[in-house]
Amino acid sequence: MKVLAVNAGSSSLKFRLYEMPKEKELISGTFERIGIEDSFYTIKLNGERVKKDRDLENHAEAFKILVDELILNKVITDASEIKAVGHRTVQGGEKYDHTVLVDDSVISDMERYIALAPLHNPASITGIRAAQEVFKDAVQTAVFDTAFHATMPKENFMYPVPYEWYTEHGVRKYGMHGTSHRYVSKRINEILGKENTKVITCHIGNGASISAVVNGKCVNTSMGLTPNAGLMMGSRCGDIDCSIVPYMMDQAGMTTKEIDNVLNKHSGFLGISGISSDARDIEDGVEKGNERCILAQKMYVRRVINYIAMYYVEMGGADAIVFTAGLGENSVETRKLVLEGLSVLGVKLDEKANSVRGKEKLITTKSSKIPCYVIPTDEELMIARDTYELANK
Ligand code: AMP
Repeated sequence: MKVLAVNAGSSSLKFRLYEMPKEKELISGTFERIGIEDSFYTIKLNGERVKKDRDLENHAEAFKILVDELILNKVITDASEIKAVGHRTVQGGEKYDHTVLVDDSVISDMERYIALAPLHNPASITGIRAAQEVFKDAVQTAVFDTAFHATMPKENFMYPVPYEWYTEHGVRKYGMHGTSHRYVSKRINEILGKENTKVITCHIGNGASISAVVNGKCVNTSMGLTPNAGLMMGSRCGDIDCSIVPYMMDQAGMTTKEIDNVLNKHSGFLGISGISSDARDIEDGVEKGNERCILAQKMYVRRVINYIAMYYVEMGGADAIVFTAGLGENSVETRKLVLEGLSVLGVKLDEKANSVRGKEKLITTKSSKIPCYVIPTDEELMIARDTYELANK
């Protein structure tokens, strides 16, 4: 069965087509600048990447072009061969603790949750509607990023604010990146060869979150009501003293929109370094002795270490620590600094093994009390697996 995994942004559409259950990737690519000037798409097929400039008015048009490309490249002969489409969806609120088939009620729930994910949920809804238009007979599923975190105990997902904020306004920790944490926590259990494990999964990319996972179930995670919680990120501040918000609004005469913009788009690596939100630029700055890049890196690493230590204590130990996403998979230096900071827990970095990028690898020595691994994440495969399973029910 051909299953399409889709990740729709407001002006982008990433896709990967699988032959399931073989989990064979047939084609992947991205449509970019949809609805904006200079739109284009890239397709990767048989190891070759092709880029084409093309006006893309909306997401449905992108899907239609995708069908044309699939036919042209002899991947399919007709759109009806794609039997199921799985959509990455960020916010599923308290209701969705697993992947579901999309119907009108799911879409209206997603619309209700827009206030909690103003950038992400509208894009997912657009993607679903466009796919419904083009793949008329296909099963559509919504794979929620929040679902994996639904198993957190109440004492971990509640904030110490008036209880009515939770009951009346849904103020609680939902967590994000759930599909990634689920993928790598499942994979590490396969590597460890057991299910009853305590693992710490570090999804550290431009957005970043760390989860504590016991026996395959999430018990705590660093992101919160929104994706701007927990770790310091590329341009997001993560955890700060919340009173900074009213203080700075008063001091600088900022509106809620303006301060929200600063804390989401001009903080983190970018805010501290004043140079870039990209970890590679920060690492270049560190090499050149740039004080603010050095500070940014120290602050970043400190927060990753703190969360790992917190979850280690909370779970009463850890069978493994996993690094994934942009920095987790590729930043040798960040991993080195984090693992050195964890030496008090008996973690012993294997410098040679740690020189890996984008590959599954054990990066600690045999004598390390906690084995630490790089595991490249694969959210698309997780989406395809869930979607295939539901399409076959
Ligand atoms: P993601 O959001 O998962 O795509 O991750 C993006 C982040 O990963 C950016 O901050 C990149 O700078 C960082 N990243 C990607 N490759 C490298 C690398 N080789 N070294 C350091 N950071 C990297």
